[in-house]
Amino acid sequence: MTQNTQLTRFLPDEEATLRLGSSWAGTIMAPLVIYLQGDLGAGKTTFTRGLLQGMGYKGAVKSPTYTIVESYPLPKFTLLHHFDLYRFATPEEWEDAGLDDLFAGNCLCLIEWPQQGGTFVPPADLTVKLENAESGRMCTLTAHTDRGRKSLETWLN
Ligand code: ADP
Ligand code: MG
Repeated sequence: MTQNTQLTRFLPDEEATLRLGSSWAGTIMAPLVIYLQGDLGAGKTTFTRGLLQGMGYKGAVKSPTYTIVESYPLPKFTLLHHFDLYRFATPEEWEDAGLDDLFAGNCLCLIEWPQQGGTFVPPADLTVKLENAESGRMCTLTAHTDRGRKSLETWLN
């Protein structure tokens, strides 16, 4: 069976971004490292909020811009970690903050602005890229590993 490595979806509004994130909740399996790419306001945090809501999380999902990481305990996984490295002045801040420790164990890691952490950031299984397209967003999902491909396959096919 051929496996998809890349898929694009047009997301006309915020609700569509939330729905796409939420639709992953039923099949997503930890461990998985997901890079969230796109400019400020592209919808990276919105997508993560949708995923968390789909997994039954009822609380607020706020942007980790100031805290660097927000961690959510979930029934299905040890943890979901939502990172935002936007405010890193240098990649070494990854080490200084001891963020590698959060990748131990069976967790889902979603990372906004991964390039700010340079080579310290673990490689991605999947990338979720969001770009402005008219008044909505174009979302491109790319798998980089077998685990990532399997996840795309079971999620969207
Ligand atoms: P980021 O984390 O990428 O900086 P946010 O998710 O915090 O972005 O904010 C994205 C903004 O864009 C929010 O105001 C949200 O309502 C809006 N938005 C999200 N998805 C879409 C979409 N598909 N079309 C139009 N607006 C969107
Ligand atoms: Mg954000």
